[in-house]
Amino acid sequence: ELSKNGWLLDIEKLTLGENIGEGEFGAVYEGVYMSQRVAVKTIKCDVTAQAFLQETTVMTKLQHKNLVRLLGVILHKGLHIVTELMTKGNLVNFLRTRGRSLVCVHNNALVLSVDVCEGMEYLESKKLVHRDLAARNVLISDDNVAKVSDFGLTKVDSKVSDKAKLPVKWTAPEALKKEKFSTKSDVWSYGILLWEIFSYGRQPYPKMSLQEVKDKVEQGYRMEAPEDCPPSVYSLMRVCWEQEPRKRPGFHKLREKLDREMEKLSPGSGS
Ligand code: ATP
Repeated sequence: ELSKNGWLLDIEKLTLGENIGEGEFGAVYEGVYMSQRVAVKTIKCDVTAQAFLQETTVMTKLQHKNLVRLLGVILHKGLHIVTELMTKGNLVNFLRTRGRSLVCVHNNALVLSVDVCEGMEYLESKKLVHRDLAARNVLISDDNVAKVSDFGLTKVDSKVSDKAKLPVKWTAPEALKKEKFSTKSDVWSYGILLWEIFSYGRQPYPKMSLQEVKDKVEQGYRMEAPEDCPPSVYSLMRVCWEQEPRKRPGFHKLREKLDREMEKLSPGSGS
């Protein structure tokens, strides 16, 4: 199916460059494919490669300005997944290194939040659940646009890994306990991601162990607002963290709320 639709790329047209990251299943390289700068994720293990190949079929059907775009795959000594190059790396490092100098203005933090929300709104509209939404899985383009990455691949993770490997600090209680993943469990993760953005890339639930997080969150404990976080943004986090999934807003609703925040913080520029 991939070859029929042109998603099978030609290794001869690919030039591999420097190693730019390590994924769970293999290294990520910078490269050039037919004069376009790309990122290449290599998966050496054949079994994993097969599973990934199935999931990339999902990815080929998704296109949105806030999702990292798949160019195609190369089958050669395992699997190479070729995507657009996101020169500014992942959102955690972006926030930590540029932190207050770039993101300080709440406006910029909000722009990043809206970007991610729009990507997720698109996935929601396609009835797809990400399962691993976190700042480390959001990448930043050369022109500072935040795009969601690793969508469509996350189901592979849950097959390969077990419950013990769930990203506890980002996962909704019902997903942790009963493996009930849904758009609303993605919304919970999005709330944690908002907290990461407005704390400039801090690790969530600082100083708490995973077991402690599991137990306390179940009992109703929630993180405090990050320093200098606008109260209205913190209240968005809190609705994302409603214990009851159906009390959480969807991404469409969240985006509307964020748009309103943008208007409040940049008065006069409303056009
Ligand atoms: P997996 O979800 O398959 O376990 P991972 O999340 O461990 O993978 P990735 O996030 O895919 O690994 O990649 C690891 C790192 O490589 C990222 O944090 C990022 O810094 C870099 N990277 C990945 N894809 C790109 C890209 N398209 N452009 C630029 N850098 C990238």
